[in-house]
Amino acid sequence: MRIRRLKLAGFKSFVDPAELHIHPGLTGVVGPNGCGKSNLLEAIRWVMGEGSARSLRGGAMDDVIFAGTAQRPARDFAEVSLLVDGAGDEGEAEVVRRIERGAGSAYRINGRDVRAKDVSLLFADAATGAHSPALVSQNRIGAVIAARPAERRQMLEEAAGIAGLHVRRRDAEQK
Ligand code: ATP
Ligand code: MG
Repeated sequence: MRIRRLKLAGFKSFVDPAELHIHPGLTGVVGPNGCGKSNLLEAIRWVMGEGSARSLRGGAMDDVIFAGTAQRPARDFAEVSLLVDGAGDEGEAEVVRRIERGAGSAYRINGRDVRAKDVSLLFADAATGAHSPALVSQNRIGAVIAARPAERRQMLEEAAGIAGLHVRRRDAEQK
């Protein structure tokens, strides 16, 4: 599965609609402290179904909605769209999550209303998702560095999508 496009509106510091096209190869995001680099990764985790406000550096899920600045009033909703390739039978899928202040989140896949669970399944089938070890947040880097070699190997294998092969190999050896 490959992310092709990320769209945000009202999400954290991205108050105005923003659209990022992600081309094949390595993509880097650079900018001064506080410009929103981590917010972009959090937007990807959020649209994939992240359910923990704390792991998005907030106290409540509504904290992902633009909270206003001295110059701009707060927003009442946030919406993030992720366009991915190679998503199961769907091929190309646009996954959208929208949250309204005080009213919770709703999800859509290719324009259809779906449950949070359908979004989790879409990404789990592609060995990715909000809790995938392929997404390492800034505050989690310490855990990767401090991990013992065996743990670090496990993280890398999960990120590479080959962790399932060990299970299948053990099964095969027992037969
Ligand atoms: P660093 O280089 O220090 O890691 P960064 O580029 O990763 O910085 P972020 O942490 O993504 O920066 O962005 C932080 C900014 O986002 C802060 O200015 C913060 O005020 C703003 N921000 C976070 N949540 C909201 C919100 N709900 N409404 C408005 N602004 C927000
Ligand atoms: Mg950061």
